Amino acid sequence: MSLTQLNKFKIVFSDFDGTLTFKEGLSPVFFEIINLLESKKVPLVIVTGRSLSWGHFLLTHFPFLRDVIVEGGGAIVSRSGKFITEECLVSKSDVLKLADFTKDFAEEFPNIKLSVDSFGRKTDRAIELHDLQDGVLFHHIEDFLRDRSINFSTSNVHLNFWCGEVSKFMAVDHFLKKHKSIDTDCVFFGDSLNDQAMFKSFKNSVGVSNISTVMHLLEFKPTTILKGDENIGPFGVLNYLQNNL
Ligand SMILES: [Mg+2]
Repeated sequence: MSLTQLNKFKIVFSDFDGTLTFKEGLSPVFFEIINLLESKKVPLVIVTGRSLSWGHFLLTHFPFLRDVIVEGGGAIVSRSGKFITEECLVSKSDVLKLADFTKDFAEEFPNIKLSVDSFGRKTDRAIELHDLQDGVLFHHIEDFLRDRSINFSTSNVHLNFWCGEVSKFMAVDHFLKKHKSIDTDCVFFGDSLNDQAMFKSFKNSVGVSNISTVMHLLEFKPTTILKGDENIGPFGVLNYLQNNL
């Protein structure tokens, strides 16, 4: 029997910002998580609102990672031998519709800049939340997105918007079917509003303790909710995996 068969979880899925990062950065505990999963031969698939170009960066710099789901589920970036490949989960027409809408958005809100990494985005666009401290402006933007039937969500760092049906769960579900795995053999870690689709539909989900700041806004909650400072972000992920893998 291989080591993988002895593990409770065959694949670990995790959000990135606020879940695998601590105080907006990578910390030694992130590498402890990577080392633990590598030693157990359990793949880690990061499921993030970060851009396609971020997915490329993660795969390039962390050889243990084989796949990264990016742009909130809009695309999957994978390593295939020496090559990094991209699978877009959004139709061409929705990618073009988003490009057209982005021009309209710039005309409507000339003083709002898209996040710098929007240059590396294909299936969504992002605005830095710290540029949206003005609550009235934030609501105007939300109303404009709603009026134009543009989907949107917030992560710890961004307001993301996109066209078409996209969610972290839909992308994970697609990934599992492709790899002939089932969600009961997997676990997902998250901490924010853009993880809700996973909390709603995925069998095993874990909220790290900093999720408490948005708990009142969550319609769907994780099946396990960690508590205490010792379970903030990646510390919670590591503690849970050490006790449950
Ligand atoms: Mg997050």
